[in-house]
Amino acid sequence: MKIQAVRGMQDLLPEKQKIFRHVEDVVRRVFSAYGYGEVDFPVIEYTQLFSRSVGEATDIVEKEMYTFNDRSGDSVTLRPEGTAGCVRMAQENGMLFNQIQRLWYAGPMFRYERPQKGRYRQFFQIGGECFGMAGPDIDAELIFLTARIWQELEITDQVTLELNSMGSVESRKAYEQSLVEFLSGSRSSLDPDSQRRLDSNPLRILDSKDPNTQAILSDAPVLIDFLDHESAEHFAQLRRMLDNAQLAYEVNPTIVRGLDYYNGTVFEWTTTALGAQGAVCGGGRYDGLVEQLGGRPTPAVGFAMGLDRLALLILEQKNPPGDSGIDVFIASMGGIARAQALLLGEKLRDQFQEVRVQVHCGNGKFKAQLKKADQSGAQIALILGEDEVEAGEISVKNLRDESVQYRITNKDLARVIDSIVVSR
Ligand code: AMP
Repeated sequence: MKIQAVRGMQDLLPEKQKIFRHVEDVVRRVFSAYGYGEVDFPVIEYTQLFSRSVGEATDIVEKEMYTFNDRSGDSVTLRPEGTAGCVRMAQENGMLFNQIQRLWYAGPMFRYERPQKGRYRQFFQIGGECFGMAGPDIDAELIFLTARIWQELEITDQVTLELNSMGSVESRKAYEQSLVEFLSGSRSSLDPDSQRRLDSNPLRILDSKDPNTQAILSDAPVLIDFLDHESAEHFAQLRRMLDNAQLAYEVNPTIVRGLDYYNGTVFEWTTTALGAQGAVCGGGRYDGLVEQLGGRPTPAVGFAMGLDRLALLILEQKNPPGDSGIDVFIASMGGIARAQALLLGEKLRDQFQEVRVQVHCGNGKFKAQLKKADQSGAQIALILGEDEVEAGEISVKNLRDESVQYRITNKDLARVIDSIVVSR
């Protein structure tokens, strides 16, 4: 059998990795500007953590988890999302009771979904989770924070904010009941998935892509009409905060998120630029989760954004960010010159920490080396041939201006390299 990557898993080659790194750098800067602390927790947890938090009757737990028994027979799962692990970590390390936490993390998640553009079985999420704050101000802060990330990534005009409130557990139950009553009359006209969900997880029917089901839903009761007073007030305040900041949003009553633990505010940032996989970021409040996992009641809110989709969005821009990666290319001809070229590379890296140097390795005709130098994106090539070695000099070729080539002595080198650093 030919060995290939596991289906749905992506390799990140330098071009794409550069974009990932750029997004991560921006995100790190923004989180730090809001005073969030970075955390990390394992990619593997006991399976129960996810079945008890994400919910038994969700797509993730029903059919998307990578679950297996480890060598001691314990059922473990590759994390399908970050919130559950983050709550487990915060709880286990005594970070929650009577405390305020603003945390963020980045890492791979795993879901056995049908792979397509923008949907992978291993994908990379960046998430933020806040504990100990019950008001709408922290919801607004998280939304501002994500908006600032889009602004810095220069994708603001490609994303839209959609908002909803799922109300309290009680008001959500009342709504669920009325939805089930409404849909039961048309049970046989629903798509098979929705028929099944009518018994297990009726809210998820709102996510159905089936046109028939959607047509039936157009007259269905809406969640927002069932909000309890407190949730309605929380939602109204949040909307005022966003209005005050002139941050545009749409209220979309069908956003219920695919996971069980949400209540109150839920939001999604979506794009139309990526075809079917339009969600780039999603989040909301999950005030009941800490208690559900054995902790004391702790208000909480969080979000996660998908780096793979953000990278696709950025790659589709005319001038995706990221630079060539090299400033100086060192070419050489002949054995003695090649050894000297290696040493010259080391000397430059010692002397100029911010200059990126690539030394040609191996044989290769001079012309071919210069072609490589040009393709590398470097500003200049330093050339060492027998002549140069004999004379104790270096030839400098300006790769961005074909006509310029000249010789320098070692002592002029610093000046030449300095001028590259300045012009970068
Ligand atoms: P969710 O936890 O499903 O709301 O996911 C949060 C974000 O992660 C989404 O908005 C997507 O950007 C991203 N995401 C979720 N599932 C995948 C996947 N299978 N492949 C790539 N990105 C994903």
